[in-house]
Amino acid sequence: MGSHSQDQFEYALKSNDAWANYKGHQNPAFFPNLAKGQSPSILWLGCSDSRVPETTLLGLQPGDIFTHRNIANILSPTDLNFLSVLEYAVCFLKVSHIVLCGHTSCGGCAGALSDTRIGGVLDAWLTPLKVVRLAHKQELDAIKDDNARSRRLSELNVQQGVEMLMGNYTVQEAIKERGLKIHGVLYDIAVGKIGDLGFGNSKGANGVLGINNSETEQVVSGNHGMLVFKGDVAQMTVK
Ligand SMILES: [Zn+2]
Repeated sequence: MGSHSQDQFEYALKSNDAWANYKGHQNPAFFPNLAKGQSPSILWLGCSDSRVPETTLLGLQPGDIFTHRNIANILSPTDLNFLSVLEYAVCFLKVSHIVLCGHTSCGGCAGALSDTRIGGVLDAWLTPLKVVRLAHKQELDAIKDDNARSRRLSELNVQQGVEMLMGNYTVQEAIKERGLKIHGVLYDIAVGKIGDLGFGNSKGANGVLGINNSETEQVVSGNHGMLVFKGDVAQMTVK
């Protein structure tokens, strides 16, 4: 394993060298332009899973996406790391979109669906996901297929995270002031495609939320909550 890992690392460095040469040859201004600064329009919140590298699977390039990834894309309101990324992306980079992406075959979801203790800090980290599991116990228990159950928990986790984002003051302000869009999506590892789960404030919004259409009411409805946008107010109703 050790020597294999070393080979992998040496290969990665050579690969980087070849990639940098190729990109520089293709467009000599590519790296010098990136060195001047970044203005990504997307903040990506995703899982650390090696199979979900956001820039690669979106077919984008360095400079396109600001990123925060952790195990099972869990958004915790007390996670200073996540909150710092969120605040920098929204207040300073002024991203137009926040994408919270869950995925199929997530190890974190498998862990949260298991009743076995993992050990170390991992059980503590996965606690919010276990809470989601418990809140939807009946629905999840009724799903007999393991993959389907895990997929459903991933979706519910994204829904929970989107609701967390919608309750964040920084996000609420940016939605009011400049129409920041929040998207909850699921990436299917076995297919390579992203599906919009319809959570957040982007569904059917026609690009404007509470800015120019102050009399229009926009409702974003979930299984256990509902967001109502009217004028410059976003209100959450929990069923
Ligand atoms: Zn994962």
